[in-house]
Amino acid sequence: MVIEFEKKVIKARFRNPNLNFEVDEQIIEHRKDPLLGRLSLIPHELKKKASFYYGTPDKRALKKSVESSRALCYFCPEKIDQATPKFLPEISQEGRFKVGKSTCFPNIFPFYKHCAVVTVTDAHYVPLKEITPELYGDAIKAGVEFIKQAYKFDNEAIYPLIGANFLIPAGSTIVHPHIQVLLGPEEIYRVKLLREASLKFKQTTGKNYWEELMLEEQKRGERYIIQTGEIHWYTPFAPLGNNEVRAIIPNKSNLLQLSDEDITYLGEGISKILHYYHKKNISSFNFLLYSAPLTDSDHSGAFSVGFQIISRPPYRSFYINLDAWFLQQLAYGSLIIEFPEKIAEDLREYF
Ligand SMILES: [Zn+2]
Repeated sequence: MVIEFEKKVIKARFRNPNLNFEVDEQIIEHRKDPLLGRLSLIPHELKKKASFYYGTPDKRALKKSVESSRALCYFCPEKIDQATPKFLPEISQEGRFKVGKSTCFPNIFPFYKHCAVVTVTDAHYVPLKEITPELYGDAIKAGVEFIKQAYKFDNEAIYPLIGANFLIPAGSTIVHPHIQVLLGPEEIYRVKLLREASLKFKQTTGKNYWEELMLEEQKRGERYIIQTGEIHWYTPFAPLGNNEVRAIIPNKSNLLQLSDEDITYLGEGISKILHYYHKKNISSFNFLLYSAPLTDSDHSGAFSVGFQIISRPPYRSFYINLDAWFLQQLAYGSLIIEFPEKIAEDLREYF
């Protein structure tokens, strides 16, 4: 085996006031990401504290926010045609890309050279349990079509990225379900790290890291979930975020190589994960779909298009970001509540 799943079991000792100041010993797992070495900290006792801190979603506050934001929403069908921007004719004659119920248009506050938003549905809000396989599948198809046309028009824009923020605990200011699609001449740091580490792995071992990882995960069976179409679904050994699930699409380096079938399976997998999240009382999430540059359709056989999704704190009447403090934001570490092996075990029932 060339992939190392490196972990250390650490014991933290202190005198606990709840035990009459007797010495208490708590177990923490420190796990290293096998490719990047990033540390995930999984304290065995954290679940107790997490439920105390996080609490449960405030359903009344969410309902109020959904209702009060509906009348002014630019993404709802009554306003979308008049209120959202259109692409230059070089990118789209019609000005927008539509697939199923999704519509892709330029972000009115761009932060990338080509910066688009795709509404996932006509409905202003959809509870996670009602997300169908078509919703995110169609939105990603519309986003990929935008990337294809923007790249034809501007061949210096070679770095694509697709992501989602669902509700305010995930950083979204807009309730209406949508994804963001970026394409520009500069690469985002983490994708660069993944790509360069994958190439280095290939150069030093002669093997494709992602293929090796999937073989190893399938063999161990602890975190591997299932293969749907060409896509492998699994939970990561050292998660970046809570309830994290990842997917790999082998033999596809960049987003434009994805077939309609690949994206259909991706949308189906996303809906299953969101149904699982709903069951766990989770209402907010982020996901990322990353790619090699569009100029690169092989990447020396070292890299695959990948997807990752994490849960975010429950919806409350005020903004909370209990999972994004100095450890995650500045020190690039992760604090994880549930073991990835348990998440994979539970998720198998949803696929
Ligand atoms: Zn809306």
